[in-house]
Amino acid sequence: MIRAGCIRQVGAGIYDYLPLGYRVLNKVAQIVREEMDAAGATELLLPALVPIELYAGTKRDKEYGELLFKLTDRHGREVALGPTHEETVTELVKGSITSYKQLPLNVYQIQTKFRDEFRPRAGLLRGREFVMKDAYSFHLSVEGAGGLNETYDAMYSAYVNVFTRCGLDFTVVEAEAGPIGGSASHEFMVNAETGEDTIMVCPKSGYSANVEKCEIGPRSWSFEADSSVEYIKHHTPNMPGIEAVAEHLNLEPSRMLKSIVFQTADGGPRRWIVAVVRGDHDVNEGKVRDAIGSPVAIADEAEAKAAGFVIGYVSPRVVCTIADTHLVIDPDATTGVWATGADERDHHVTGFVWNRDLDMPLPSEEAPVAERIMVADIRNAMEGDPSPRDASSRLVARRGIEVGHIFKLGTKYAEAFDLSILDPNQKKQILTMGCYGIGVSRTVAASVEMSHDDAGIIWPVPISPYHVVVTVMDPKNTEHTTVADALALSLSEAGIDVLIDDRKERPGVKFKDADLIGIPIRLTIGNKALAEESVEFKRRRDAGKGDLVPIADAPERCLSVLNNGG
Ligand code: ATP
Ligand code: MG
Repeated sequence: MIRAGCIRQVGAGIYDYLPLGYRVLNKVAQIVREEMDAAGATELLLPALVPIELYAGTKRDKEYGELLFKLTDRHGREVALGPTHEETVTELVKGSITSYKQLPLNVYQIQTKFRDEFRPRAGLLRGREFVMKDAYSFHLSVEGAGGLNETYDAMYSAYVNVFTRCGLDFTVVEAEAGPIGGSASHEFMVNAETGEDTIMVCPKSGYSANVEKCEIGPRSWSFEADSSVEYIKHHTPNMPGIEAVAEHLNLEPSRMLKSIVFQTADGGPRRWIVAVVRGDHDVNEGKVRDAIGSPVAIADEAEAKAAGFVIGYVSPRVVCTIADTHLVIDPDATTGVWATGADERDHHVTGFVWNRDLDMPLPSEEAPVAERIMVADIRNAMEGDPSPRDASSRLVARRGIEVGHIFKLGTKYAEAFDLSILDPNQKKQILTMGCYGIGVSRTVAASVEMSHDDAGIIWPVPISPYHVVVTVMDPKNTEHTTVADALALSLSEAGIDVLIDDRKERPGVKFKDADLIGIPIRLTIGNKALAEESVEFKRRRDAGKGDLVPIADAPERCLSVLNNGG
């Protein structure tokens, strides 16, 4: 996009939108706007400057951490540059809604958001200042007419319409709700190899989920193992990581146990939760949370050390030696003989078997939860894992770019702001909310990731800055320019956006630029074609020179090609 003159980088994650890029941005925004309006949402505009107290009300001033841009005004008051606007809109609605009869309500805005991303990357894909559409809905109930579920479903369909109309190849996946909190959530992913997100798909059932959320089908397991193996302690100096130890012990990482220490974060008395997975697997924090039924956070290292955990060398045996410790074990980390930490700095052990080396009741497949030990799916899914929806099928991994995300928020924000209303029975009810985001500027970049070749961008027709570029071979030749102007006029009367390239450049330069900026159709006006009262017609997708089309037929030919996706 930079090479094509669509955007220009001003700083890390900060861009100028130049005329071509701005046209695309506006086209995406317009499609979003039309679909939001059709789904019953109403547009408004909220401020980018948000008093910090609003975020403090939901503790997100802390939760967002360094992602939040903050500044202090001349009176010493702290203000944030809004990264998202749940708080602002909740407070707005609290002051505006007086009766349940005004519900449900769904409002949206298209606005610049600010996030001090640790690693801004890939142009508009991850900016520090970016354009987002966000919508927020308010309801008296989850179920029934006017309830959250109804609006959620309407927004889901509207999102499908938006991305279909933008000409994008996308997948809808089940998603983790993340720090925003809430229950159900879907993400809309543009399918692209360069995407940051991993999507798991079951080809048979159609189930698809972000790897952060993806369930794994049933896996059989047992703690039975050959208990005649010798339990041996090894000196493994400065090797807290799995890879290095595995190499040192001459083992595959898949024969090691990885034990990650979490602590409960539900505000109640702290419990330690040690999540145990196979060395080549990754612990999934959301699954750990779901397994134990309480929010968790990676343990504070200093506190964990004080409690007796030797971080980097933790073994499952801590469940027997450290108070208030619980184990959650992934099924793949049960059967067999393992290498694990030795709960002692710079030491590991080999020959660990669960049914001999743990002095504590173990669960079984029939009863997967024992006193302080449970077995549950707590790791990230991987390609080849059993599908959770079809026993005969296996998961496949793909890459995607998240362009939209919808959440059922529930009452988190309404509670924080005491946003409640008397229902028809005069009973005070906390409102239920949904929130729905689209990365408008990211969608522009994602469509380029999805659709380009070595010569440049190939815009999907509906969001292309122009549909047709009329390339004038010799701008000093008035016959060329006269025909170009007349042709452009008749094209634009047919509803086609036309760009005339009458720069005083060599034809080769113009052809190259036309390919680079990715306009779906190029009509070239030169002596040879004009001699036959024709223009040279070339689709951006096609290689070679194109063919001659009579000038009078050009608009119709353009329309039919554009209507068929360029
Ligand atoms: P990510 O996981 O990619 O950081 P997110 O889940 O934090 O994104 P949301 O809070 O869900 O993002 O924001 C809604 C939408 O805004 C996202 O689906 C995405 O399309 C877009 N978006 C988020 N962060 C950025 C960014 N830094 N630059 C451009 N678009 C963004
Ligand atoms: Mg998201």
